Amino acid sequence: MSAPAVGRFAPTPSGRLHLGNLLCCLLAYLSARSQGGRFLLRIEDLDVPRCPKRLSDACIEDLTFLGFDWDEPPLYQSARTDVYQAHFDRLREMGLVYPCFCTRAQLHAAQAPNLGEREPVYNRACAHLTPAEIAERSRTRRPAMRLRVPDAEVAFEDAHFGAIRENLARDCGDVIIRRSDGLFGYQLAVVVDDALSGVTEVVRGRDILASTPRQIYLQRTLGFDTPVYRHIPLLMDAQGRRLAKRDRDLGLPALSRTMSPEQILGMLACAAGILDENRPATLDELTKRFDWRRVPRDDLRLPCTPKHA
Ligand SMILES: [Zn+2]
Repeated sequence: MSAPAVGRFAPTPSGRLHLGNLLCCLLAYLSARSQGGRFLLRIEDLDVPRCPKRLSDACIEDLTFLGFDWDEPPLYQSARTDVYQAHFDRLREMGLVYPCFCTRAQLHAAQAPNLGEREPVYNRACAHLTPAEIAERSRTRRPAMRLRVPDAEVAFEDAHFGAIRENLARDCGDVIIRRSDGLFGYQLAVVVDDALSGVTEVVRGRDILASTPRQIYLQRTLGFDTPVYRHIPLLMDAQGRRLAKRDRDLGLPALSRTMSPEQILGMLACAAGILDENRPATLDELTKRFDWRRVPRDDLRLPCTPKHA
């Protein structure tokens, strides 16, 4: 028998959770629990000024209100700087890291127009600076640190969306693994945390699908196993519009004034295809019913616009 699945939910508490976040948590939870697996909570509060403790606490309260539970104390990224530093140092010792002194304006000016949703690929302006140039520029500006990625393709099989491939150098560019303000980059922290927590299954929104090949490259470089990835469709409101953080009405504080936890879970499960109708349901019932084959690939739509007080 293989080892039990380990799933996780990893919110960034820069605001209150909204229905899109909660759908992601629900599917990650149901997937892990329906396999008899473990479920972990990680608070991605690396950017401490944007993610104050009161928002982390509110996030945990919201999840508890809905009945979610996790098997270990929540992991706070803000407390793990030493761990990220150790892995950053390993990458640097491999000769894969270099300083980038570009300002936001320089990066913006260098990018090609009409990129759509994709982030710009870095033009490697700082990839070949001499030690003297680095010393000179360091006098006036603290650099970001970038991971050099190879001109190579990374392919993987997303368990929900199928085969995905990207050329790292062409499609991603060299990745910032430490920002100029000294904070470690999202990609490094996620890869290190998933690996050290023993996560075997990552369920998250398809808006992060394009980040996955560079995370797989980081895993391989650091000698970590690659978990199963299941990216999920985005959740739209009842009119088919993308949910935004500004939709306060679709945040849990507003919803919980007029809806029970079972009503909110049932509405999400209906949007995800797990229930055939919009009715209240408990996490236990949904765990028994859960089947990935019921979850579509197309964007999901809320069955109704929740009424609020
Ligand atoms: Zn640069």
